[in-house]
Amino acid sequence: MDENNPMSDPDQWEADLERRYPPAEQGEQSVSEFRNYQAEARPSVKAFYRLNHQHQTFDFVKQKRQQFLSLERQRMGVWEAMEFLNTLVDDSDPDTELSQIEHLLQAAEAIRADGHPRWFILTGLIHDLGKILCLFGEPQWAVVGDTFPVGCAYSANIVYHDFFRENPDWGHPVYSTECGIYQRHAGLENVMMSWGHDEYLYHVTKPYLPIEAQYMIRYHSFYPGHRENAYQHLFSERDHELFEWVRKFNPYDLYSKSDARPDIEKLKPFYMNLIAEFFPSKLAW
Ligand code: FE
Ligand code: FE
Repeated sequence: MDENNPMSDPDQWEADLERRYPPAEQGEQSVSEFRNYQAEARPSVKAFYRLNHQHQTFDFVKQKRQQFLSLERQRMGVWEAMEFLNTLVDDSDPDTELSQIEHLLQAAEAIRADGHPRWFILTGLIHDLGKILCLFGEPQWAVVGDTFPVGCAYSANIVYHDFFRENPDWGHPVYSTECGIYQRHAGLENVMMSWGHDEYLYHVTKPYLPIEAQYMIRYHSFYPGHRENAYQHLFSERDHELFEWVRKFNPYDLYSKSDARPDIEKLKPFYMNLIAEFFPSKLAW
């Protein structure tokens, strides 16, 4: 592991999310009380948050958007991208850790079991494909982690908020103000989010998916927004409505992991069909 990638694999951040947001039924205490008793993040994850908060500046995000959003890197189908993503962690323990494809299939299967529409199942299947950014050589702190707006003050509700003191935008005369470069209630489509797998995949898939799915993909790591109710001053009425869908999606991402392992070969025909219903055979990445 190099200094830029303190976690043994990017899923350690997701494991930390489960520590921070345990399922509601765990214990008799309310979730917030329960959270107070939790130990802090493991050192590798804490080091990861520190790098993320140090380096996710307004200029950094602008530069990454220029670098990646022309989508000229590769042409790949959705299942192909799933298999590509699966090469991300090749030294994980197959007895205890889920592969990337297994996480995607578990989320999709849990959504399917609850009788949700086909586009919703598909969203579960693809929601983390943006993590192929890691395979393009991007550091963990620019791929995973809670996301948040840049160009305005970093909310005190973001995990390890103090690490933002090391961010060059911290003392910026405009970026450090509550609304920063944005109008009050400008709407999230006008707000630049920290760079990571959500924003990237949103741009790859948006022409093919309903707006609810686009929101689920684009904001699924925006825990300060969908779990902590931060940044309400930037939300439009429409954002409030569509965040109901982001919140509906979140449990399938966080809590579907412990169920039985999905049988990939058995499920593949169903999902190939579902993919073909919405997407062309190749997408621009
Ligand atoms: Fe994700
Ligand atoms: Fe996920």
